[in-house]
Amino acid sequence: MPNAPSPQPVDFDAVVVGAGFAGMYMLHALRRLGFTARVYETGDDVGGTWYWNRYPGARCDIESLQYSYSFSEELDQEWTWSEKYAPQPEILAYARHVADRFDLRRDIQFETAVTAAAYDEAGVCWRIETSKGDAVSARFCIMAVGCLSAANVPDIPGLQEFPGPVYHTGQWPKAGVDFTGLKVAVIGTGSSAIQSIPLIADQAAALTVFQRTANYSIPAWNETLDPARLAAVKADYPALRAKARARPTGFYFPFNAKPALSASPEERERQYQEFWDRGGLPFLGAFGDLLFDRDANETGAEFVRAKIRAVVDDPAVADLLTPKDILGCKRLCVDTGYYQTFNRPHVKLVDVSKRPIERVSATGVVANGVEYAADAIVCATGFAAMTGSFDRIPITGRDGLPLAKKWEAGPRTYLGLTTVGFPNFFTITGPGSPSVLASMVQAIEQHVDWIADCMAHMRDIGAAAIEPTLPVEDDWVEHVNTVAAISLRSTCSSWYVGANMPGRPRVFMPYIGGFPVYVQKCNEVMTDGFIGFLFDGAPASQTPEVRLTERWRVPLDIDVISPAMIAAGRVPIV
Ligand code: NAP
Repeated sequence: MPNAPSPQPVDFDAVVVGAGFAGMYMLHALRRLGFTARVYETGDDVGGTWYWNRYPGARCDIESLQYSYSFSEELDQEWTWSEKYAPQPEILAYARHVADRFDLRRDIQFETAVTAAAYDEAGVCWRIETSKGDAVSARFCIMAVGCLSAANVPDIPGLQEFPGPVYHTGQWPKAGVDFTGLKVAVIGTGSSAIQSIPLIADQAAALTVFQRTANYSIPAWNETLDPARLAAVKADYPALRAKARARPTGFYFPFNAKPALSASPEERERQYQEFWDRGGLPFLGAFGDLLFDRDANETGAEFVRAKIRAVVDDPAVADLLTPKDILGCKRLCVDTGYYQTFNRPHVKLVDVSKRPIERVSATGVVANGVEYAADAIVCATGFAAMTGSFDRIPITGRDGLPLAKKWEAGPRTYLGLTTVGFPNFFTITGPGSPSVLASMVQAIEQHVDWIADCMAHMRDIGAAAIEPTLPVEDDWVEHVNTVAAISLRSTCSSWYVGANMPGRPRVFMPYIGGFPVYVQKCNEVMTDGFIGFLFDGAPASQTPEVRLTERWRVPLDIDVISPAMIAAGRVPIV
């Protein structure tokens, strides 16, 4: 091929950064194809998010039967989830089981952080350095660093000097924490806070919750998994997996496409109650237009607000806990007894929406001129989402270009998988892909299979390097923004747009056009000869046979086509 540099021998075909669900499956997929790989993981075990987030009450918010790998039917058959939404220890046990069952650990180096990754253009490889002094080369650098991994510890004066323990929900101690008899302050009221507050309240002598923004939470109605349902799913697991892949969210739940405003008030109430009784994230499936029409959304929001008012005894506290903005604009929370916790006499809610927390003193948290006594502080303050995990590592591409510089005004990718100037660099569930708007495990598997198929194809045709072109990247970034603008989700100050932390550029980072639409686009790019990519600096000169993993030939579920999917321009208007 023209311009092809001569590759040097490398230590590994691929270095994978992170041994969460993405890194684990990436390793398995690479091995299956005969590639050599080394995974570096900061923690001392696999599991990623489920390794770090050990706070009380942590559990998944997509039913476990679907929040699990689908690549192995044997794995699906042999693993048995105990609850509808498995708790963190069980999800971590699952990750460990997968690591053992597929013998992954021998290629994972634990307690090792990647400290630098630089592209060597002459050698056509990545030079990787680690906290343990490793300096290795690999043809490919694959980032499996997670979307919600870089903890946001708030910059509150005095917090660092607080004499008592300060915890972040995303960096919870392995040994657990006993709050018995303590005065505890929790900062934040997002998903992590909403899951943990009821359990912290069970132990603490006094609990003060500092709320900047009220959040909508839908009851989980978590329960022991019904053996009949488990048996039914296992009898034909591939059918459930296929139905899930055809959904905009990458997981299956009952969905009513009818617009909310076309229903009578009585019908709406019935419908919302039915979906409330199902619980969790599927509540947003009660009507098809809830995330696209403000007036429709308001009907659902008001239903949830009424539920909060009905549960919380003190009307002033109920009012503070009641969100006034768009339902589901920020990711919905899913809880067990959250609002009820504020009826307990030792639990206090402090509004910090008008004035930020002033400082942390030696004996508590000071807000609105009042000191609230605390022996321990829990920061449930979220993450530098989507790009924070990349920012932690100096990553440099061609001509020494730092990734942080390239992304300073917001991440720029082609398909959320690759980025111009960084050959042979893949991002699993990177910004610009469905990632957090789909079931993460399905989104991970689709990316891993695409990357593995791509690498195998490159081996087939003898290509050493792949990189997207600037026009396709620019088009994709614009497309991601255009589609986002259709959804109400782009309108509020959430972590989807980086607005949860000061100083981050406001860009809607995940791709909201719908999981199957996105998968079809990835498939087409591949089957049409890797459209938009250069191999070894030149366009693909033939339309060669490609290796698309069969299960990603995903049909659309036409009953749930959304305006964002139509805006994505890849589905018929029905
Ligand atoms: P989050 O949704 O970003 O919530 C962080 C909370 O901390 C917000 O209430 C935020 O207020 C508040 N906060 C941040 N800095 C603050 C400050 N300086 N002063 C006062 N309050 C401050 O983070 P998260 O709860 O960890 O959840 C992040 C995401 O992780 C979720 O949306 C979800 O996708 C995922 N998650 C999932 C589950 C699950 O059920 N499986 C559980 C936990 C997390 P503002 O809203 O005003 O910014």
